[in-house]
Amino acid sequence: MRRCSALLISLILAISAQANDASSPPSKPIKQASASAKEEASAPKEKEKETRKSSKEKESKESKDAAKDAMAADELAVKIAERLALLRKEKDDVARASTRAVARSPAYVAPVRKVTPAKPKEGSEHGSSAIIAAMGGHGAVHWSYDGEGGPTNWGKLNSANAKCDIGDRQSPIDIRDGIRVDLEPINFDYKPSGFNVIDNGHTIQVNVAAGNYISIMGRNYELLQFHFHKPSEERVNGRSFDMVVHLVHKDADGKLAVVAVLLERGKAQNIVQQIWNNLPLEKNLALAAPTAIDINQLLPEKRDYYTYMGSLTTPPCSEEVLWMVMKETVEISSEQIAIFGRLYPMNARPLQKTAGRLIKESR
Ligand SMILES: [Zn+2]
Repeated sequence: MRRCSALLISLILAISAQANDASSPPSKPIKQASASAKEEASAPKEKEKETRKSSKEKESKESKDAAKDAMAADELAVKIAERLALLRKEKDDVARASTRAVARSPAYVAPVRKVTPAKPKEGSEHGSSAIIAAMGGHGAVHWSYDGEGGPTNWGKLNSANAKCDIGDRQSPIDIRDGIRVDLEPINFDYKPSGFNVIDNGHTIQVNVAAGNYISIMGRNYELLQFHFHKPSEERVNGRSFDMVVHLVHKDADGKLAVVAVLLERGKAQNIVQQIWNNLPLEKNLALAAPTAIDINQLLPEKRDYYTYMGSLTTPPCSEEVLWMVMKETVEISSEQIAIFGRLYPMNARPLQKTAGRLIKESR
């Protein structure tokens, strides 16, 4: 009986090992196994193989003894069958759970909303991006501004980026021939806020604490983050600018509104300096700034603007984004441009077709 048990236990261990793939926690079944099986489990694999091999050789000899122990073996066989059924069920449960987890996980990570400068939440702000998946990674080839992952291939990198290829209201565009009307002023409700800075591999992004809003056309949009492009992605009557800052907002229904502020070479910009001062040393690690930021100081004095419907300018290129591009530019120093240029010499998506879209502008 003892030899027979050893054979059966070897067998159960071998089958258990198969039933348990890498995704299932190995500790659980072993803990539940019998005391003798536990000892077996702790034995080196080589020894286990030998045991199995020699057991096989002795199989014919054992058949005699087996008859004697048939009843006891039957009992053991029932136990083994039960044990295997349990192991398979556990394995299936684990597989199902991990499938659910994958299904739940979004294509990209939402930007960090709450920023506590004094006490940064570690790990929570790899915010690459954003809302924008913008900045999220998809597939083997990561999207970029040149080479294999460049703008002409964004749509092919991942099916989630299809709009980059087939969308018909994409951004950026060359803003021209706008209809001059009395545009409703954008109501900016920005206040000094905690912030963190992240180099997400595509741009420098600033995640701001909750509580900054714009309202326009009866909707309230909260500021999520802002980031920079060099040179400006949008053009105005064919003209490009040194840089642009995109302030990304979202309303309660998830609709996006981006305010673009064009940056031109001139005197140093206070808010930009505050951000550059807090540039993180490493990519994808948000650095919480010790001070608050007043984003009003990043806006031009005059609040006239161009507006049109477009998209995110980074994968997944989602459309239905309300764009508001400020007409008056804001100055930024050569030194400040150069600092960004060292990190991102060119991070602008090429112009997209306007395709008959209506553009309005403050007259
Ligand atoms: Zn942008």
